[in-house]
Amino acid sequence: MPPSTAPRPPDLPGWTHRFSGKVRDVYAPTTPHPDGDVLLLVASDRVSAYDHVLPTPVPGKGAVLTALSRWWFDQLGDLVPNHLVDAAAPAEVADRAVVVRALDMVGVECVARGYLSGSGTVEYDHDGTVCGVALPPGLVEGSRLPAPVFTPATKAAVGDHDENVTFEAVVAEVGRETAEELRRVTLAVYERAAAVTERAGILLADTKLELGRVPDGDGSLVLGDEVLTPDSSRFWPADGWRPGQAQPSLDKQVVRDWLTSPASGWDRASDAPPPPLPADVVERTAAGYREVYRRLTGADL
Ligand code: ATP
Ligand code: MG
Repeated sequence: MPPSTAPRPPDLPGWTHRFSGKVRDVYAPTTPHPDGDVLLLVASDRVSAYDHVLPTPVPGKGAVLTALSRWWFDQLGDLVPNHLVDAAAPAEVADRAVVVRALDMVGVECVARGYLSGSGTVEYDHDGTVCGVALPPGLVEGSRLPAPVFTPATKAAVGDHDENVTFEAVVAEVGRETAEELRRVTLAVYERAAAVTERAGILLADTKLELGRVPDGDGSLVLGDEVLTPDSSRFWPADGWRPGQAQPSLDKQVVRDWLTSPASGWDRASDAPPPPLPADVVERTAAGYREVYRRLTGADL
């Protein structure tokens, strides 16, 4: 369900709204589509932070997520096929929408981590592992891991945390062969992408992929959803990396800093929804997203 503060998804000729995630509005063709079973994924300007969708959109964010995902799908084409279909999206959302093959999504969030952060640090501090993978002692928030690890999670409903699970739990869910394939693809994508971001002065702390299969296809895994965006990944400026503390992130840091400052008047621990963002916070956040795109692709949006 879309958050109650979200504006109604736009009416789009030829497309019927099916459902909305935290950020994307998903449509199916109203009448049979020449490319078969496709969906339209429209990235909104909604922002989530601290597990809340904020009441204030960030203009241009959906366009950045969409352009960046397209760029990455192209970069990764030799590693894994993707869901993009070369068909036109409606003009009114063309800069923030993609037509995609409708996939049977594998119900596992495929996360790869090269650095310890967030829920990874919480689990590590508790028992020295992340998703059951034993890590060396002495690591702190922001530490680089000896090697990237596959740390799957199960998808939660809107408002809930995704739950980290062990590799064996994924095996129990999808079978060993698929689980190993998910891990192989996820780590291959992470390693390729981390090398790319590092050349742009950005550490790829972790990233989440969603994979699926074409119904009645040959069974191969296809990369779906968005890929390697600031919403699905932690991007840390390399020159600000200081293990042992929360790392600044290129995109939402401005939002997080403001929300947790006295100026917002918001108590993160309470059940209260976050307040609207002031205009300068919105503008600096929008600039942060554009900056990630510029640094990675070398082009302006
Ligand atoms: P978050 O990414 O913050 O967890 P969300 O999962 O609620 O949010 P959105 O990213 O807002 O979801 O919406 C995209 C939805 O479309 C997700 O449910 C995703 O699994 C689904 N999806 C993405 N690509 C495909 C595809 N090719 N076929 C079918 N469903 C897809
Ligand atoms: Mg998503």
